[in-house]
Amino acid sequence: MEKYDIVVIGGGPAGLAAAIEAKENGASNILIIERDRELGGILQQCIHNGFGLHVFKEELTGPEYAERFICELKKQGIRYKLDTMVLDITEDKKVMAINTVDGLIEIEAKAIVLAMGCRERTRGAINIPGTRAAGIFTAGTAQRFINMEGYMVGKNVLILGSGDIGLIMARRMTLEGARVHGVVEIMPYSGGLTRNIVQCLEDYQIPLYLSHTIIDIKGRDRIEEVIIAQVDENRRPIDGTEESFKCDTLLLSVGLIPENELSKSAGIKIDPITGGPIVNESMETSVEGIFACGNVVHVHDLVDWVTEESRKAGKNASAYVQDRLIREKKPISTSAGKGVRYIVPQKIRLENVEKNLDLMLRVDNVYHRAKLVVKDNDKIIKVIKKNHLAPGEMESITLNLEDLERVVGKEITVALQQEEV
Ligand SMILES: Cc1cc2nc3c(=O)[nH]c(=O)nc-3n(C[C@H](O)[C@H](O)[C@H](O)COP(=O)(O)OP(=O)(O)OC[C@H]3O[C@@H](n4cnc5c(N)ncnc54)[C@H](O)[C@@H]3O)c2cc1C
Repeated sequence: MEKYDIVVIGGGPAGLAAAIEAKENGASNILIIERDRELGGILQQCIHNGFGLHVFKEELTGPEYAERFICELKKQGIRYKLDTMVLDITEDKKVMAINTVDGLIEIEAKAIVLAMGCRERTRGAINIPGTRAAGIFTAGTAQRFINMEGYMVGKNVLILGSGDIGLIMARRMTLEGARVHGVVEIMPYSGGLTRNIVQCLEDYQIPLYLSHTIIDIKGRDRIEEVIIAQVDENRRPIDGTEESFKCDTLLLSVGLIPENELSKSAGIKIDPITGGPIVNESMETSVEGIFACGNVVHVHDLVDWVTEESRKAGKNASAYVQDRLIREKKPISTSAGKGVRYIVPQKIRLENVEKNLDLMLRVDNVYHRAKLVVKDNDKIIKVIKKNHLAPGEMESITLNLEDLERVVGKEITVALQQEEV
């Protein structure tokens, strides 16, 4: 059996940042396990720019952003195994992995960092009606085909779902010579970043059909036609609003699901809203010594936040193996109030908060002129005014240690209040 102090599962931006930070904070025997043929995770297929504005104060492409961390990892001599799939992990931190060189590998770790990212929802997950013809791809799969494998997936395209991957692919397909007829979104607002609506749709005159969905797909071998309709407030199609598009390709950008099969097999508690492990201030899950970061915890909008969160996970995994992480019996819980979908972290042990703590959250609708209010029972701890809030954009609230030390209840709540106009 191989033995490591820290095993990081997933070599995307989360895993890379966690491993480097763990090493910089004194852990020495670290291994990253990555199932793909190279490190970098989803960034390797994101050849557009827009990465690193916060971490590096520069606009980088996905591969450039990943490269900086891969170089640092190599400089630090951190070990990694590629083309290696983790099959199982246990509560006592045994990792079972497989590859074609070593066969089945059993590894014993003092701490584990989960950084497996997330996967895309497929057609089956949302029950789109119509024939099961070829030509339907998730947007991320199409992105990998075009940007990494060198295959163009279609010429006449419609995109369902206005999350960031769908928006980015609307522009990408256009630049590769395809005609993109539009992006169809069932909600009355986009699920993506405003900057992507502007730079990927408006700049290329690609229409965004809000409050619309697909009601039929036609075609035998390859799709030939997609029919959309407007939906009412209950998301039911409205008769007489049908519109038809002749197309050979449909891209789906209908949500991401954190990859937590391994977390579940280790008995880690999962938050039903985020779909990721419940974590504390140190990014430690409900199983002692197993940490988690990046999209496996909650879907992030920007990779910069993934990096920051993962550095914290790596630093604390290192503290854990050096027996420096303080355990307190009763942590404070965080709870999402009106207008807020979720908060990460869900638990806070004050002893491990150095100067301040960032609460990461998403709201449940589009709001203008609103306030995010943090409360300890009825006592207001912090208020943040926001001109615009949308579900597609992550929000963060920084609480300093003094604020947290004044909390007397067992829970702090973050809720949204609309300002009087
Ligand atoms: C299309 C698209 C466009 C984006 N555009 C931007 C942008 O413009 N700006 C921005 O800041 N962010 C952008 N992002 C977001 C950013 O890429 C992600 O936030 C980031 O990649 C998440 O990092 P991660 O390490 O958590 O996950 P990932 O990058 O998904 O990495 C997870 C890794 O874990 C590996 N893995 C999973 N399971 C196992 C297993 N069982 N065994 C071994 N390895 C495993 C996977 O192979 C993968 O390499 C975009 C994302 C996408 C998909």
